[in-house]
Amino acid sequence: MSRMNIALIAHDRKKDDMVDIAREYAGFLAHSHLMATGTTGGRLRTEVGLDVECMLSGPLGGDLQIGARLAVGEVDAVVFLRDPMTPQPHEPDINALVRACDVHNVPCATNLAGARLLLSALASRP
Ligand code: PGA
Repeated sequence: MSRMNIALIAHDRKKDDMVDIAREYAGFLAHSHLMATGTTGGRLRTEVGLDVECMLSGPLGGDLQIGARLAVGEVDAVVFLRDPMTPQPHEPDINALVRACDVHNVPCATNLAGARLLLSALASRP
């Protein structure tokens, strides 16, 4: 099975959920190439022990960096735990990344239930 390129992003109030789900799927994620926005990636490294390529923090352009990778075929799936209750200064960047997923038909889970389905499906690929 080829190594998948997976992007992981969580807004501040969703970061604990991201750490929890990453722990749940750590076996699979450890065999994938992971990229994340800065703060999310830092937590995944220190709290879950995953090897994560960290981009800039989301508000500083990290979502755009991931979107650029995705646009050239270098991202296979995105888990983006968005906070729908808090306005984000980089809302245009967030929309751009989700739009890029739609343009390039890359699966994107934006909440915990979707993330669990997506990671389960990817982890059980033959
Ligand atoms: P962060 O960025 O992981 O650096 O907090 C996430 C975001 O706000 O898009």
